[in-house]
Amino acid sequence: MKKIAVVGAGPAGIYTSILLKDFPVGVTLFEQNKSIGEKLKLTGGGRMNITNKVFSVDKFSSSQPKLLKHFFKNPIAKNPESIFSELGIEWVWEENRAILASGEAVEEVFRLKNELEQQKNVNLVLGSKVSAVTKKGDLFELTVQSHGKTSKEVFDVLILMSGGMFRVREFGDKEQIYTLPISLGHKIQTITPSLSPLSIEGKPFRALAGISLRVELTDIQTKKSLKGDLVLTHFGISGPVVLDFSSMLSGTEMEMNFLPDILESDFVEKFQVFRQGKHFVRTFLKAFLPQRVVDFLLEFSQIEKESLIADISKEKLKKLRRNLFRYELNNVSKQDFSACWTTKGGVDLAEVSLSTLESKKHQNLFFGGEILDIDGLCGGYNISFAAICAKIVTETLKKLA
Ligand SMILES: Cc1cc2nc3c(=O)[nH]c(=O)nc-3n(C[C@H](O)[C@H](O)[C@H](O)COP(=O)(O)OP(=O)(O)OC[C@H]3O[C@@H](n4cnc5c(N)ncnc54)[C@H](O)[C@@H]3O)c2cc1C
Repeated sequence: MKKIAVVGAGPAGIYTSILLKDFPVGVTLFEQNKSIGEKLKLTGGGRMNITNKVFSVDKFSSSQPKLLKHFFKNPIAKNPESIFSELGIEWVWEENRAILASGEAVEEVFRLKNELEQQKNVNLVLGSKVSAVTKKGDLFELTVQSHGKTSKEVFDVLILMSGGMFRVREFGDKEQIYTLPISLGHKIQTITPSLSPLSIEGKPFRALAGISLRVELTDIQTKKSLKGDLVLTHFGISGPVVLDFSSMLSGTEMEMNFLPDILESDFVEKFQVFRQGKHFVRTFLKAFLPQRVVDFLLEFSQIEKESLIADISKEKLKKLRRNLFRYELNNVSKQDFSACWTTKGGVDLAEVSLSTLESKKHQNLFFGGEILDIDGLCGGYNISFAAICAKIVTETLKKLA
């Protein structure tokens, strides 16, 4: 083995190159952007959620669930924290999430770039897009477009870590993004946006944009639910629970529970007590929800803001109860790839050895990170997955050397 090419300087490609420190083989890391980790800088709102205390296979999805389970049996996939320690990353726990100790993703990407530049066996080539690959015997010939010039270079090992459809700057259509694995005969499982904010027809929450709430979201078709924090936006809903929910939404209809931590029966009981005497409905609900949300729900239930609970008809109260606990949202859609955090689908797991991440079609061809048909929920799972792939690939290469 004389030369290794890594395509893509996102977390998967960066971590792979760093873990190959002191490896007696030259590593060329190609990145089409002018800087590394462009997406990484945006993660966790700039604080980078790197991993999670609740780390298990059910936080990930793939079009091939059995193979996904098989992948996570690998001991390396059970302990992302030890990989982060090896990479010199410092983190702190914020509830279940590990975020950077510095709290600055940009600073961390700068540190990673320094690491790469100090590594004698790594050649970081920025502003260089690998536009094609062909097999020359056992070797891989890469066509590289860099600063208006096209060149060709041959490598013994090719590691494709070029991510999914999200692009900080646009680089092309779907076909172009997956050109390299496709040209090497790999099948791409259907790709769709994942971890996406949700747009709602009619923009019902436009006037409430910016309000954060804890809610429970339910897929009307599958009855699957998730509780967590949401942000109302001018186009619909966003926030951690929405991004996670988007990855399991099966159709276009969902329900929202504005009071996820209160039993509906307890609430009704309390409400009935307040039907005696002079109690304003608005004041009663303000104990549970922000004023603007209360006013919105009252209006939607056709109840006057200044009504006394005792004066509201049974029919309207029923409506209010339904809107509080099962507010229906129709014509819900995910946003396009440019707004989503990850891509569902990718290189077919059946064509990759899951213990080494080597292609079953070509020896010395490896995959890792979001290019694969595995995606995780919010909360550090995707960066952990990138680190796990980096560790598996580099351990395999060390055994082969
Ligand atoms: C706003 C936002 C916030 C997020 N927050 C989190 C979070 O807090 N925690 C978490 O775990 N995940 C988070 N994610 C998801 C996470 O960023 C991705 O899952 C992760 O970056 C995927 O890593 P990767 O290395 O596989 O791909 P990428 O990070 O996409 O990197 C791939 C790289 O390959 C380059 N490339 C592609 N094709 C070529 C080519 N032909 N030649 C040369 N270079 C090429 C691309 O330019 C890119 O730099 C977030 C995503 C977004 C968008």
